[in-house]
Amino acid sequence: MIPVTKPFLPKQADFKSYVSSIWARQWLTNNGPLVNELEIKLQQYLALPHLLYVTNGTIALQLAIQALEIKGEVITTPFSFVATTSSIVWQGCTPVFVDIDEETLNIDPNKIEAAITPNTTAILATHVFGNPCDIDAIDRIAKKHNLKVVYDAAHCFGTKYKGKSIFAYGDVSTTSFHATKLFHTIEGGAVFTQNPDILKRMALMRNFGYSGVDTFSELGTNAKNSEFHAAMGLCNLNYIDQILSKREELSKHYTMRLHKIDAQFQVIQSDTDFNYAYFPVIFRSEEIMLDCMKQLELVQVYCRRYFYPSLSALPYIDKVNMPICDSIARRIMCLPLYHTLTSADQDLVVRIILRTQNYRKKQVVKLADYGRLVNGSQVIAVNGR
Ligand SMILES: *Cc1c(COP(=O)(O)O)cnc(C)c1O
Repeated sequence: MIPVTKPFLPKQADFKSYVSSIWARQWLTNNGPLVNELEIKLQQYLALPHLLYVTNGTIALQLAIQALEIKGEVITTPFSFVATTSSIVWQGCTPVFVDIDEETLNIDPNKIEAAITPNTTAILATHVFGNPCDIDAIDRIAKKHNLKVVYDAAHCFGTKYKGKSIFAYGDVSTTSFHATKLFHTIEGGAVFTQNPDILKRMALMRNFGYSGVDTFSELGTNAKNSEFHAAMGLCNLNYIDQILSKREELSKHYTMRLHKIDAQFQVIQSDTDFNYAYFPVIFRSEEIMLDCMKQLELVQVYCRRYFYPSLSALPYIDKVNMPICDSIARRIMCLPLYHTLTSADQDLVVRIILRTQNYRKKQVVKLADYGRLVNGSQVIAVNGR
């Protein structure tokens, strides 16, 4: 069975030795020594002076919106994971969707200004599949209209833009360390900012707003993370260079083998050190994509429709038409990509996709010749490769 993703697991012995140290200290959570160590090691690895380790990538978005006092309308992308939109709504704000660029799959900056109203206070954009947004254009618009910028960088661990960690951009950047992400702490996330006041507010908000033993200086929540989660992060961080280079190698293998495919690939922003976190393929039609998915499932390869449906179709959102996003969301599929995937696994995936596409082309001819239809699974059995 080949799933779309598998969580990375470090050596069990490494994790166990951290667990023994937790038992010895009997300090399980509340800004413990392993949480501190993880924050320091992440700062060093990312070459960033500040970050806060939090419970998950969703609460990271909520902290960012709360700490920046974002209210009213928030311009955002319809092509992302549901948490990008749901966090805006959860914070009592209104998401205003702006369609995406069909090549980068990120919010199209050329369409942002038309969506700004007197109630707009912020832009919340996702660097989709680890591909940086047009940060320079978004910055220019934000400055001109006095808007805050939050980047949902949940896919971005390891991505650099203009030589700096992608987490350095925006008023606040957030990320997720969920088990399915390239770097993970089982559950977890982080917030990043260069603004000392916002950093301090988010630090207080992360811990109920406590500013002393019995004093609360802010409205807070519980966004802390535990020693056990930090231990997994410390273990996994030792492998990060291996994880990133393996992802690159696997992605390049897919690209090489799929160059003849009749489909479109995400165009990566220039000036980027990319992390190859996902391998999305945009097919010509939803029908072809679903056909490939079905044929892959017959050999127990399970791809996923990321992201589908478009977030503008959520039941708690007023319906809006986002033609580019709607079209791409219907035709896109992410191929299996994880640390232990083999090139033989990849070749199987590629073979099925190419065969499904070729078969569809031949089928058009056959239909014309004989007026009869052979179903896909039979053809695979006949070809038998
Ligand atoms: C995973 C993800 C999140 C949410 O992160 P969690 O840690 O699962 O809460 C938010 N935004 C995007 C784009 C994601 O992919």
